[in-house]
Amino acid sequence: MTPLVHVYVGLGSNLDDPADQVRRALDELDSLPLTRCLAASRLYASRPVGPQDQPDFINAVAHLGTRLSPLALLDQLQALEQRHRRIRQRHWGPRTLDLDLLLYGNETLTLPRLQVPHPEMTARAFVLLPLAELSPRLPLPDGRRIAELAGALATPGEIEVLPENAN
Ligand code: ATP
Ligand code: CA
Ligand code: CA
Repeated sequence: MTPLVHVYVGLGSNLDDPADQVRRALDELDSLPLTRCLAASRLYASRPVGPQDQPDFINAVAHLGTRLSPLALLDQLQALEQRHRRIRQRHWGPRTLDLDLLLYGNETLTLPRLQVPHPEMTARAFVLLPLAELSPRLPLPDGRRIAELAGALATPGEIEVLPENAN
């Protein structure tokens, strides 16, 4: 059997009660085959990347243990996005649920459908801050640590932790 691999998934939503979309998706990740959710960050609110004429994003990061292969996990994440009736009208436009595979163990993958580590993760506060909350000392395959990358962000102030009881 495939050994248990530690993976990190970035969640994002800015449509149809985004905080609820993300909270439900965190539960659903725990129910994927051969997969357990080991830890989840708090929810973070931030301005969208790209077009600004859309609602704020809610983001979180989940730490999973999985025995799925990288592409089998990507298939499961994309199926979960579809179950949230994700409508993709335009690149970087609003969506009900976006699930990005950030890290798969210590692997570096460059496949047509899957790049790991996620190529944009080191530049994004909405990925690095929740990830640093969970695993600040975690190294990328190139050895850089999450807390170090989070500390180097140019505009970390554009993001805030969502209060527990907020929608
Ligand atoms: P970004 O990748 O910059 O965050 P996005 O999330 O809006 O943009 P999508 O439209 O969700 O991009 O995904 C486009 C394609 O990216 C997917 O069909 C998938 O095959 C591919 N992809 C490559 N690497 C990854 C990854 N690490 N996690 C998720 N999808 C990936
Ligand atoms: Ca994304
Ligand atoms: Ca995506």
